[in-house]
Amino acid sequence: MNKPPMLTVQQALDFLLAAARPLPDVENVDTLHANNRVLAADQVSTLDVPPMDNTSMDGYAVRAADCASGQATLPVSQRIPAGHVGAPLQPGTAARIFTGAMIPAGADAVVMQEMTALQKDEHGERVTIRHQPQSGEWIRRAGEDIHSGSVILPAGTRLRAQEMGLAASVGLATLPVVRRPRVAVFFTGDELAMPGESLKPGAIYNSNRFTLRALLENLGCEIADFGIVPDSLQATRATLRRAAQDSDLIITSGGVSVGEEDHIKPAVDAEGRLDMWQIAVKPGKPLAFGEVRRGKPADGVAWFLGLPGNPVSSLVTFMLFVRPFILRLQGVEKVAPHAYTMRADFDWPRADRRNEFLRASLNEAGGLDLFPNQGSGVLTSTVQGDGLVDNPAGKTIARGDMVRFLPFTSLLY
Ligand code: AMP
Ligand code: MG
Repeated sequence: MNKPPMLTVQQALDFLLAAARPLPDVENVDTLHANNRVLAADQVSTLDVPPMDNTSMDGYAVRAADCASGQATLPVSQRIPAGHVGAPLQPGTAARIFTGAMIPAGADAVVMQEMTALQKDEHGERVTIRHQPQSGEWIRRAGEDIHSGSVILPAGTRLRAQEMGLAASVGLATLPVVRRPRVAVFFTGDELAMPGESLKPGAIYNSNRFTLRALLENLGCEIADFGIVPDSLQATRATLRRAAQDSDLIITSGGVSVGEEDHIKPAVDAEGRLDMWQIAVKPGKPLAFGEVRRGKPADGVAWFLGLPGNPVSSLVTFMLFVRPFILRLQGVEKVAPHAYTMRADFDWPRADRRNEFLRASLNEAGGLDLFPNQGSGVLTSTVQGDGLVDNPAGKTIARGDMVRFLPFTSLLY
C-alpha cells in the first residue's frame, strides 16, 4: 500500500486557516472585562488625548518672554492642581502648577520647580526663575498621543492590558468583541485516570485535560468538557454527538493513530467527515481534521480537531495548528507566533525527515540550551524549556549555528 505523502507544517496550517471562517456574532462587553477578547469593529477616538495642553512637571507656568533674562522674579498669581482650571495668566506673573494640570491661557512654558526659588512676604509670594525656558517647555500638547477621529484599534485586535488602557484613555466604556468560541473537549483512553483518583496498574493521569483546557482558556474560549471517554467506537460516537450540539469546535486527545484501539477516525467518519493528516512534524505527526454533524441538518456542523495523545505532541500540535485556527475564528489576521533568530549552544547531529520542534531554554550567555530528553511524552521538557527550536526537515544543528526560536510566551496566548 502506498503511503500518502506527508504534509508540511505550512501546508497543514494553510488548509486549516482556509477553512476557518470568523464567527459572526458580536457582543458588547465592559472595557474592564475585555482582556484577551478580539475587537469586532474599528475603534475611533472622539477625543484628543491628552484632551488639553498640560504640564508634565511640577513647577511654574509662565510666559517664556517674561523670563528671557535668565533671572526673573515674578509674583505668584495662582495655584493650579491637576483637575482644576486656572484663570488666564496675567503678563509678568507666574502660576504654581502641578503635573497633569491644564496650562492656563496666556502661559506658553513651564519651569520645573528645581530651577526656582520662592520667597514669601507680606505682599504674598514671588518666585525667582533661574532659567530661560523655551516656548513649549514641559508642556504636553493636546492630541499629541491621539487625534480625535483617528482609528486607535482596528477590528481583529486582540485586547491586552495596553489595548484596554488605550481604549479607556479615549473614554470607551464598552467594546464590541467577537463572541467566545465554544469548544468541546474530550480525552480518549482506557488508561486515563483523574488526579485525586488512585492509579490502578497500567493507568496514567489525564494530564492533557489540564494542558488543553488552560490553552483554551488563554485564548478566550468557552469550554464544554466531556471528560475521559473509553476506547470504544460506541462511546466515542455518542460523545461526539453530544459534544457537537452546542459547540463551534470539538478538540480531542488520543486515538488518532491507526491502531485497533484508535477509534477517532471511524467515529468521526460515521458522525461527519474526517481527514487524517500525517504531518512531517515531530512531535505530533498525526492530526485529524474534519466536522461532526449536529442533530438536525439545519443545525450545521461543528469543526473537529483530533490531537495525538502523547502530552508533548498534543501541546505542540495545539500551539502550531489549533491556536492559529481559534484566533482566526475570532477574526485575528496575524496568527503566526513571534519568532527570533538565536544562537544554538548545542549540537543536534541527527537530521530527521520531519520538521522538529525541540524544547530549549534561554541561557545567560544569550544562546539556547537543549533539553536533553526530547521524548514526546516528556512534559518536563516543556516546563524547563522556554520555547521551541523550529528545525527544518533534514537539517542538523552545530553549536554556534543560528536557529529559529519560538518562545512559549508567543505560543500559549
Ligand atoms: P494515543 O494517541 O491514544 O495512541 O496515545 C499516545 C500516548 O499518549 C499513550 O502513551 C497514552 O497513554 C498517552 N496519552 C493519551 N491520552 C493522554 C492524556 N489525556 N493524558 C496523558 N497522556 C495521554
Ligand atoms: Mg489511546
